[in-house]
Amino acid sequence: MIDLHCHTLHSDGTDTPERLALLADEARLTALCLTDHDTLGGIPALLAMQPQVKVRLLVGTELSCHFLGRSLHVLGLLVDPADARFQARLEDLRGRRDDRNRRMIARLAELGCPITYEDIQAQADTPLLSRVHFAKALAARGFVRRAPEAFERLIGDECPGFVPREELSPAEAARWIREAGGVPVVAHPGRFANGGFRWDEAMQDLQREGLEGLEGYYGEYRAAEQKYFVALAARLGMVVTGGSDYHGGNKPGLRLGSGRGGLKVPDDLLERLETQQRNGTYR
Ligand code: AMP
Ligand code: MN
Ligand code: MN
Ligand code: MN
Repeated sequence: MIDLHCHTLHSDGTDTPERLALLADEARLTALCLTDHDTLGGIPALLAMQPQVKVRLLVGTELSCHFLGRSLHVLGLLVDPADARFQARLEDLRGRRDDRNRRMIARLAELGCPITYEDIQAQADTPLLSRVHFAKALAARGFVRRAPEAFERLIGDECPGFVPREELSPAEAARWIREAGGVPVVAHPGRFANGGFRWDEAMQDLQREGLEGLEGYYGEYRAAEQKYFVALAARLGMVVTGGSDYHGGNKPGLRLGSGRGGLKVPDDLLERLETQQRNGTYR
């Protein structure tokens, strides 16, 4: 089994890259791709673990895009960590994130919850600050009792204290990832929209914009969702990927490799992904 979607404390997870490599070996995974949001900051430490573990360690990232008025996540799998232009592009995204964070601090103060940049930094082990760290800072300052309450009342997508980031278009994200030698993949489509959403047409639009794969196996999918998205990828000729979206203590109950318990991402998906990386379309 493999896991092509997980996070460390370089974004909004709680584990070090070193620990993820060891956990992947313990879970007897054959491959692990690290996909922290907007950064390859954990990649050097991850790759340095390769001599010590059997699991193949791979490079990726997760970017946020705007699509149909909402946030769509795109995985850049197998990108080249030595690509300077891609690194500069990620740095630009982190700058936009920082702008958003400062505006969110101002908004929260207006709402009667004054926290400082330093309060949030104190909750993070690396420079990338996300809403997970806001939630912990709000709890530490006593504005909410526990971090999840911050998402319910203050900083969840629909809440008054939330400020969206300036996000990429799917086409732009796909191009950046392709130009860095990676494969652009729609992350957890079932979480973007479910129920009656017409994925056939939307996914074809995304495919036209340069998305080459979709996450058909996911840590939080029900069996029916997995079946639906694997079949949709086959119909459209897109690659299927899969992963747990492990975040350590920030997503309790979710395990590397096995997700909520039943996740099994087959090894052969990686061979297909690598073929796509070599032969895939580039517009
Ligand atoms: P950001 O990228 O800074 O906007 O933060 C997004 C992160 O916040 C996601 O990756 C989740 O880890 C977390 N998050 C967003 N919404 C919620 C929620 N309703 N409950 C718990 N965590 C959330
Ligand atoms: Mn996350
Ligand atoms: Mn995501
Ligand atoms: Mn993720």
